Amino acid sequence: MTSLTQSPAEVLKIGAKIAAGERINFEDAKTLLEKADIFDLASMAHQIRTAKHPDMNVTYVVDRNINYTNICTCGCKFCAFYVAPEQKGGFVISREELGQKIQETVDLGGTQILMQGGHNPDLPLTYYEDMLRFIKDNYPIHIHAFSPPEIVFFSELEGISVEAVLKRLVAAGLASIPGGGAEILVDEVRTRIAPNKCSTEQWLDVMETAHKLGIRTTATMMFGHEEKPADRIMHLFALREVQDRTGGFTAFIPWTFQPDNTNIPNARRMTSVEYLRMLAVSRIVLDNFDNIQVSWVTMGPKISQLALFYGGNDFGSTMIEENVVKAAGVSFRLSEDEIANLITKAGFTPRQRNMEYGLLENRND
Ligand code: SF4
Repeated sequence: MTSLTQSPAEVLKIGAKIAAGERINFEDAKTLLEKADIFDLASMAHQIRTAKHPDMNVTYVVDRNINYTNICTCGCKFCAFYVAPEQKGGFVISREELGQKIQETVDLGGTQILMQGGHNPDLPLTYYEDMLRFIKDNYPIHIHAFSPPEIVFFSELEGISVEAVLKRLVAAGLASIPGGGAEILVDEVRTRIAPNKCSTEQWLDVMETAHKLGIRTTATMMFGHEEKPADRIMHLFALREVQDRTGGFTAFIPWTFQPDNTNIPNARRMTSVEYLRMLAVSRIVLDNFDNIQVSWVTMGPKISQLALFYGGNDFGSTMIEENVVKAAGVSFRLSEDEIANLITKAGFTPRQRNMEYGLLENRND
C-alpha cells in the first residue's frame, strides 16, 4: 500500500490493516467513509482492484433493459416509472414488441437482456414462464431477469415458496438474477421509502436461495435518499456475509438516487465526490466480490471514467434501452464505441464480457 498522507492516524491504521490483507470491520468502514482523504481512499481501493484484476481489463456487457410491465402495486416513494393498476398509462409488453427488442439486441452484438417490471397483480407465474420459453425458443440470448422483490411478489401471489418460484423460472429459461430492488438493505429505511416491497431478510434470502440452486446474481445499492451513511455500510456488510456463505454474487453495482419525478423530490443529489467515496469503500469492504461496476447511467461518462481509479473494474452495460432512471430525469447515452473509448483513454483495455464475467472475443480481434 502506498503511503497515506492526508488522512488522520485512525485511517492510517486501517490502511495498514488493508495492506496486510486483513478484513476491515463495520467501524473501520465508517471511519473510512467519513474521515479518509479521498485520494487515500482511491489508492486503497485501486490497489485492491489491481490485485484482483492485474490484467487491467475493464469489462462491459452489450445488453438491453426491457421492462415487461410498468403496472405496479408497490408504490415505492422513489419510483418515477410505475403506474398503479387503476391508473391510465399502464402497459404489458406484447410478444411482438418483446421479440423486436430482443432481435435488435442480437443484431447489435448483444449477449443478454435484463428484464424487470412492476408487481402486476394480473400476471400469474405462468405468464413469466411462457415469456421465458418464448424467448428461449426464438433467440440465442442470456436472460438476466426478475429482481428479488419480483420473485417474492410471485411467491406471495402464487402461495408457493421462493425456491419453487426460482425452480420453475429456471426450468422455463431464466439464467441469472439482477440485484435490483435492494435500495438500502436496512428495514428502517425500506419501510419509509418502499413500504410494500420485500424486507431486507427476504431480499437476502432470495439471493441465498438462488445461489444454492446455482443461479448467479448481482447486487446493487441505491443511495442518497433517506438513509444515513451508516445504513450504507450495513448494506455492504449484509452482502459480504451472504457472499462468504455462497460466493454467488458476480458483481456489486452502487448507484445514486435520482430524485426528479419521485416522491422524494427534496432529496439532495449526491455529489460526484460522495459517489466516488462510496464506490471506494464498497471495493474495500466487499473483499469477496470480484467485480465492482461504475454507474455511467447516473454519474455520466467522465465521473464513471474516473471511478475506474476508485475501485471500479466494470463499465456495466451498453443499456440499449433504459426507462427507469430516464423517468427520474437522467438520460446519459453511451454507445459501445464511446464506452470502449472512455476505457482506453483511462489507460485500461476494454473487453466485452458475458453475465458471468467471461471475456468474449474482442470486437477488433
Ligand atoms: S421500484 Fe419497482 S416495485 Fe417499486 S414502484 Fe417502481 S416498479 Fe414498483
